[in-house]
Amino acid sequence: MQQTSLDFSEIRIETPTFDGVRGEYAALDAALDAAKTPGDHETTVRRWDALRRRLNDWESYANLRFEQDSRNPEFKAARDYCDELSPKLTTLDVALKRRLLADAQRPALERTFGTTAFALWEADVTAFEPAIEQELIQEAKLCAQYTELIASAAIDFEDKQQNLAGLAPFREDADRERRHRAERAFWSFYGTNRAELDRIYDELVKLRHRMARTLGYENYIGLGYKRMHRIDYDQRNVERYRDQIARDVVPLAQRIVQGRAKRLGVVGPMFWDEKISDPRGNARPKGDLAWILARCQEAFDAMHPELGAFFRTMVSGHFIDMENRAGKAGGGFCTSFPTVGMPFIFGNFNGTAHDVEVLVHEMGHAFQCYRSRSLPLTDYLWPTSESAEIDSMGLEYLAHPQMERFFGDTADRFRAEHLSDAFLFLPYGVAVDHFQHLVYANPDATPAERHQMWQQVERRYLPWRDYGDLAYPSAGGLWQEKRHIYHSPFYYIDYTLAQCCALQFWARSRTDYRGTLDDYAALCGRGGEVPFQTLVRGAKLKSPFDEGVLTGVVAEARSVLGL
Ligand SMILES: [Zn+2]
Repeated sequence: MQQTSLDFSEIRIETPTFDGVRGEYAALDAALDAAKTPGDHETTVRRWDALRRRLNDWESYANLRFEQDSRNPEFKAARDYCDELSPKLTTLDVALKRRLLADAQRPALERTFGTTAFALWEADVTAFEPAIEQELIQEAKLCAQYTELIASAAIDFEDKQQNLAGLAPFREDADRERRHRAERAFWSFYGTNRAELDRIYDELVKLRHRMARTLGYENYIGLGYKRMHRIDYDQRNVERYRDQIARDVVPLAQRIVQGRAKRLGVVGPMFWDEKISDPRGNARPKGDLAWILARCQEAFDAMHPELGAFFRTMVSGHFIDMENRAGKAGGGFCTSFPTVGMPFIFGNFNGTAHDVEVLVHEMGHAFQCYRSRSLPLTDYLWPTSESAEIDSMGLEYLAHPQMERFFGDTADRFRAEHLSDAFLFLPYGVAVDHFQHLVYANPDATPAERHQMWQQVERRYLPWRDYGDLAYPSAGGLWQEKRHIYHSPFYYIDYTLAQCCALQFWARSRTDYRGTLDDYAALCGRGGEVPFQTLVRGAKLKSPFDEGVLTGVVAEARSVLGL
């Protein structure tokens, strides 16, 4: 693998202007007008792709800097500028896609670049018209308001101020009374801000519905699927898949919760007991952030030479920011700088096992992005998200044999917890998805009715759940901690679809580790060059939409977990 000694600080970002980019698009149009051979078209598409990579760098940078310090006025201004300009650039981008879709040279271009990009562009052109440009700007602003509100949390807990991410270790503390108090502190923030949380979401739902109507959809669901670039499955598939989770996974999840309670000696497990699986507390990494990064290096070196070398480049070039600081946005993600072919990992270290999971997870994304960096179009740099999350979650399972490095003699516990968490996550994930279908099918519902919709899906997918005296989630407010529900409608099911595939990697790796790792690496190298189900089958996995896809994995997990 080619080594790069690039440092993140050396990346030069050009801030575009609308007129400048419009000029470049005009030049591309002129080049297509003048094109005489398929080769001329191809050259123009490549020029366009280079432009898109530069703009992608700029968007990544503006968003990343803001997430790193949402209180910095300069970063905020850059991000606001990006939010203002992006939809205008989308207008230019979509116009060119529309032109290429209708171009007489399309068959030749499809032979060169693959048909998938064209299917993705079809989704783009049916999901966007200049008529919704103002709504898109407004949507980005509302999302930024949610981010700022969440990042503003300063909660007094045990004589210290914490942000929401900082409360995480206390929420899974071994001391039951303490984690209960942490939950109360956590949800008190939501209780205080309910009106604002409801207002932002209400405006988002109505705004999205309006966009959908403008574009000729019945409601936002159809548009949401297009915006998610779903090109090889639909609402029906997703609905049947949720039914499979309810039927095959919810009973196992229930057993996991009961098993954990039994180990804890708790009768009637409460919400704050679900994350704990052992009276000694959850397995924790045995060192700080620098220590975890060093162990990660050893783990990746041991797994695959290319993974190890790549991680070294990421660390030495400062393409990883895992430190938890005041003003930094929550969560973890991986973004990329396609002109230099490097991804960037963002996270918030908090001293729990989650740190290892997030770092390995985001490394899966980063490794995929890096391996796909030379695919011919930016459209393929990342697959659509249900496929992208297989690359990240898959790596989490493939790293299981390395967990002794982080957790010592509690590694077995970590693996069991990690696996159990996956089966607890699936019902939660489909609940989030089902909820959003209800919300967008009923855009005129009041905020109070939305809280009831959440309770309705909770009863189906999380029937064991008991929030006790936690007033906020008891009243149906749990969903408001989920950033995706605000920022990325219909995204969440993708995690569960991917989990469904990653769990198949887990089961296979138990009998054929090398073969599974090779299939995994090959999958990463394909980026998004083909749609979800083609990628999945190409990696020798079953599609989540196949009947009974999880029955074998569930049986294997029951035997491993002794349930
Ligand atoms: Zn991910």
